Amino acid sequence: MNTFTTVTVLGTGVLGSQIAFQTAYAGFDVVAWDVDDAAIASARARFAELAKTYAAEVAGAADGRADAALERIRTTTDLADATADADLVIEAVPENPEIKKDVWARVGAAAPAKTIFATNSSTLLPSAFMDASGRPDRFLALHYANHIWAQNTAEIMGTPKTSPEVYARVVAFAKEQGMVPIELKKEQPGYVLNSLLVPLLNAASALWVDDVADIETIDKTWRIGTGAPLGPFQIFDIVGLVTAYNISLMGDETSRRFAARLKSEYLDQGKLGTSSGAGFYTYPQK
Ligand code: NAD
Repeated sequence: MNTFTTVTVLGTGVLGSQIAFQTAYAGFDVVAWDVDDAAIASARARFAELAKTYAAEVAGAADGRADAALERIRTTTDLADATADADLVIEAVPENPEIKKDVWARVGAAAPAKTIFATNSSTLLPSAFMDASGRPDRFLALHYANHIWAQNTAEIMGTPKTSPEVYARVVAFAKEQGMVPIELKKEQPGYVLNSLLVPLLNAASALWVDDVADIETIDKTWRIGTGAPLGPFQIFDIVGLVTAYNISLMGDETSRRFAARLKSEYLDQGKLGTSSGAGFYTYPQK
């Protein structure tokens, strides 16, 4: 018997669509909410694409299981309808505090007493929104990685006000959903994964823009020296160079020099990372 029956996902962009699909794939009834009909049309296209990706890349998904997941996702633009029977609401709306606060206030006003609230925010702490929801004891962060079907970590981070019982139920749900739960004992910007990854990527980009070593040498050093399968620039290609550019623009002087080189040598040439077939390296297209 699963921890929850109905899971509502708010926002069906890059991550929300993956969270909704993975949750349906794991057998839960899913309601996917977005702002308007155009966003819902995009969501349906994303779900259809995810069904194909799962069939191609996830063991056992090709024998109808990926298509069956599509049947378990209901879409709506009505927030009260979306949350009316939700055991868990997972929010993946834009990384903008005002938008998130507004959405959580509306969810808090509409959802039944049983509902647990989770934000997938990458950079904002759950304590920033718990009060907007009106139910801080039922509020925490549940953070997924892009390409959820393969990079299946789910970082679970409560606030000092999160009820231990709510936290434990979300850990159980993450396992049922096919994730590896990563339990944080306290709030930490960047969770565990990005607390480790961001300093590595910053160090790699500084070594390159300061002309200490070239990209291949930096990556090779990390791979051979630690046994890791990927070097930092291979990881940049997976994260996507547009995201790397946007984050670097907000950093210190070295980060901004990295952003400038990313733009002139990669983005302006259409090299966006693995998704475009080329970034720091070139990749065969499927
Ligand atoms: P996205 O831009 O792809 O999707 C955002 C969704 O929110 C869209 O479906 C959009 O229609 C909807 N939306 C737009 N305006 C809105 C509004 N005013 N109110 C409510 N919904 C609105 O973004 P994303 O990359 O999926 O990121 C969503 C959240 O997930 C963010 O908090 C982000 O930090 C987090 N996240 C992203 C990644 C990633 O790799 N992209 C990884 C982990 C976590």
